[in-house]
Amino acid sequence: MIEPHVKRNIWLLWLSVVPVGIGLTYHFYPPATNLLNFDVLCFLFLTLFVAGTPLIINNTPIFYIQWVSLTVFLTFGLFAEVIFMQLALIVVLIRIRVPKEHMYRLPLNWFMFFVVSVASGLIYYAIGGTHGIDLMDSPKNLLLAFGYAFVYFLLNHFILTFFAYVVQKRKRDVFDQDFIWEAVTTTLILPIGLILYILYQEVGLISIVFVSIPFASLAVILNLYHSSDKVNHYLQNAAEIGHELAERLNVEEVIDLYIQKLTGMFPVDFAYILDVVDDELQLIRRVEKDTDEFMDVLPLKKNEGISGHVWQSGKAVLYHSQKEWKDIVEGYMPKSVESIICVPIVRSNEVIGILLLASQQKRAYEKAQLMIVDILSSYFAVSIENAKHYERTREDSERCALTKLYNYRYIERKLNEEYNLLVSGRRKCLSVIMLDIDHFKSVNDTYGHQSGNEILQQIANRLAGYIEEETGIVARYGGEEFLIVLPDVDKYAALQMAEIIRQIIANRPFVLTEHIQEEQAEMTIQITASIGVACAPIDAEDAMSLIRHADRALYVGAKQNGRNKVAEYVK
Ligand code: GH3
Ligand code: MG
Ligand code: MG
Repeated sequence: MIEPHVKRNIWLLWLSVVPVGIGLTYHFYPPATNLLNFDVLCFLFLTLFVAGTPLIINNTPIFYIQWVSLTVFLTFGLFAEVIFMQLALIVVLIRIRVPKEHMYRLPLNWFMFFVVSVASGLIYYAIGGTHGIDLMDSPKNLLLAFGYAFVYFLLNHFILTFFAYVVQKRKRDVFDQDFIWEAVTTTLILPIGLILYILYQEVGLISIVFVSIPFASLAVILNLYHSSDKVNHYLQNAAEIGHELAERLNVEEVIDLYIQKLTGMFPVDFAYILDVVDDELQLIRRVEKDTDEFMDVLPLKKNEGISGHVWQSGKAVLYHSQKEWKDIVEGYMPKSVESIICVPIVRSNEVIGILLLASQQKRAYEKAQLMIVDILSSYFAVSIENAKHYERTREDSERCALTKLYNYRYIERKLNEEYNLLVSGRRKCLSVIMLDIDHFKSVNDTYGHQSGNEILQQIANRLAGYIEEETGIVARYGGEEFLIVLPDVDKYAALQMAEIIRQIIANRPFVLTEHIQEEQAEMTIQITASIGVACAPIDAEDAMSLIRHADRALYVGAKQNGRNKVAEYVK
């Protein structure tokens, strides 16, 4: 973020240096020829045309303009070169669609290029350079021209790096990847500039046509090379992200990481992940950068909206601007969106979800990026399935299949954790309630094992219904025994809860539908349970003794006292 006062200073800097500087340039280094002629116009047109087709690397436009500006400088002089470059910059900034709030880049670039032009020009004059020299005449002249281009390139690079650091606080190595790229392209293009100059002197304007053809082919080749380089880079990133996704075993984490990586890798203002649930697409994640329109996203059916179409077709889509998708969208889409990438998340030939990325910029995404997002979405699909599978397995290993309550393995682990919290002082007390159904064997004998199971399920439901998640954990501890762990519940409160539980079981009959009695289809029976309560730290010296003591209270205090009772542990 550039502060407003910095932007203002940039405008002031430009205003106080460049206009006067241009005037002085005209005064001290007047144009080598009259600038108001057809040839100059043609070169101006060529300059602006080349400026309109820059190569953009890491958001920095790379000018292939040196070859034209070299000819302009050698032929028409410093003043013409300065003016041409200033005009070219306007075209470049329009071409790369600089947003309004970045308009300060125009005076900044004007200033920087002015300095580069004048400094390289002055050095050229200082080492004896003049205009209209014959390059074929002597090696010295050729060397002068090379020297000029070399100084121009270096100054340009250093000043750009310096200002990127000062203004945008963007640190970059002076000799980084971009530098090498620029150096290589400049070296490749420089001879074209020299050829243009020589040919222009020999044959006049037609030289532009001759030289433009090899230049255009070179530009195409460099472009191709650069985009394959970029795709390589993306692919490498994608592979790394794939590994990272695969390591996550939690569904939520996989989704978060996926969104985070995507928004880091591509220009994304809005991101949505939709999940296929039966015959609908439901939104499960949204990321929205600075927008005040927050709307509910209604579920979409097949063929509804962009996501619905992608779901139906199973094919990814890429849109460059609003008018391409305006007619398809139904329901929610932020008004400022222009570019969209929408890909299906496919697993075993089935669409399991949809990813939609959007940007407020037009033409924010390229085909190559769509391909990478598509690859990432299949990594994502696999990782999600893995994580789901892992969570399911874990859940299975912690729960009792019949009652869906936690099993003894889980509750013992939890009890140990809670006991450690008690020991470390983060809990004041820890109570457990142990419950055993009375005469359950005879229930099984009379009504059958299946009815016994029905009762176990109904007791589990009643317990889970009464003990809220934030109060405690309910588990099936053994055959017809249940254990409830109550962190930060004292003995008095635990005994009261135990009494309520006793009544919840004893006062409401149980419905049996799968009994072995021959009478009615459905019948009800009364059940009671005996309950023991123990509370740490008073009743126990470790986690397992808490269970043992609750068990002991259950048998001695409740069962032996006639059952259907609550008893507390007494030493
Ligand atoms: P008490 O009042 O002394 O606890 O008598 P009880 O019959 O409940 O005690 P006992 O320990 O003799 O019997 C427990 C019975 O619980 C034996 C077993 O058949 C039954 N049981 C244990 N697990 C299950 C189960 O998963 N389903 C069914 N239906 N019965 C079970
Ligand atoms: Mg029993
Ligand atoms: Mg028992």
